[in-house]
Amino acid sequence: MESGGDRGFGSHLSRIYNVPTFSDVTIILDNDLEDGGGTTTFYGHRVVLAKMCEYFRKMLGSFENANQVIRLQNFRISAFEQCMHFAYFGWTYKLEHMSLEQCNQFYAMTELLMIDVGDHFNKWICNKIITWEKDIWTLLTMGVNYGLKELSEKCISHFSDIANEFLRFESFEKLPLIAVQMVVACKAMNCTRAELLRTVRHWIVVNGEMIDAKEKKELLLKVSQRKIICYKGKKLFLYGKTSPKHRTIKRNTNAEVPTPPEWLLTTVKPYAFTSQMKFQKCLLIDGIIFFLQSNRTFGLEYMYSQSEIDLKFEIKGRSKNGVKTLCKRNIHIISDFTRSNLRLVRLFFPAVKCCALNEITFAFSWKAAGVQPNIYKFGIFKNDLTMGQSSFVSHIYYQEVKPKNSTCGNCPLSWDSDSDNSCSSSYRCTGSESDDDDSAKWF
Ligand SMILES: [Zn+2]
Repeated sequence: MESGGDRGFGSHLSRIYNVPTFSDVTIILDNDLEDGGGTTTFYGHRVVLAKMCEYFRKMLGSFENANQVIRLQNFRISAFEQCMHFAYFGWTYKLEHMSLEQCNQFYAMTELLMIDVGDHFNKWICNKIITWEKDIWTLLTMGVNYGLKELSEKCISHFSDIANEFLRFESFEKLPLIAVQMVVACKAMNCTRAELLRTVRHWIVVNGEMIDAKEKKELLLKVSQRKIICYKGKKLFLYGKTSPKHRTIKRNTNAEVPTPPEWLLTTVKPYAFTSQMKFQKCLLIDGIIFFLQSNRTFGLEYMYSQSEIDLKFEIKGRSKNGVKTLCKRNIHIISDFTRSNLRLVRLFFPAVKCCALNEITFAFSWKAAGVQPNIYKFGIFKNDLTMGQSSFVSHIYYQEVKPKNSTCGNCPLSWDSDSDNSCSSSYRCTGSESDDDDSAKWF
């Protein structure tokens, strides 16, 4: 007698899975070339296949014979095996470790075999959006193609937080029209109109042959109706509406910038800039602006250079419970100082809650060789929400956690309610500030 009998048939599943003994359906798959050609045999069971796959139920229902042989062509073997695994064992650890590509093929195969994967798959893939953030457009395409509404909506919602980064992904050009329409229809997203327009125009160039003139026109019209900058919440001007004084560089553009000496090009140095501040209210912060400045310490002759940096950005919060990292982003910035010595950088991230009176640190760092920029340091700031001696951050995009109260209710510290902490209307998003138009002034 084999062990496990007291746990019923379920404990024996792995012993009968894809084993010829007692199998009554043999499935022969003609492998496609990607799977190495040849054939693969799967030993199945009529009762399992008919119950779990509509495709086989229809097929097997018309046969009376035992030991049926089914031949399938152009089926991706690995995806077929995953489907069979699901049919026999359900949603397991093994399936939870699929890569995005495997998951895409798995779902396509479940559609083909008419297997109902149920809610598990939906929940699982929606939770993967942050892990597979770099493939957000593939996920949205899956959502649209397979009618996974929750996945599509969650992709759009995550995209909208960091829209300016996601719009730069090359994979955007592969989106189907319906997905692009969803992006364009998204009411609030953290990016400029110019960034959205650039991406949509590029998509139209790449996909021009597949869409008609009316659809093109509609997409561009929708974009043009947006505000110059479309961010989700409010904008806090730490330094009023004035931008830092920048110098327009007047020079002979034909004159070449000299190549820096070898030692400078090969010596890697770390760069780090941090600013701390406390807010009088609990805020959801989802973006900042800072300015890169050409660095005079490298010598005037190199000031006009371009540089690329892989910037690490981090927000840390200190409460009485200790220091906690609230957000981490890595962004690639190409800065061009050939026309101006300053360059505005707008950074968005999924909203982080910064509780009232906790010390919040904004940290920027990178390591690089060659001529590197600085981050422009501003002086004293004071307003209804925060104050301090200096800051590398010039603007903060935020939403109030609870518009009527100063704290979210879960704060380690409370804010003195006697003080006037109302938010001035000058912080509100109007979308028409002239200094917001990157393309006009800073690029
Ligand atoms: Zn709070």
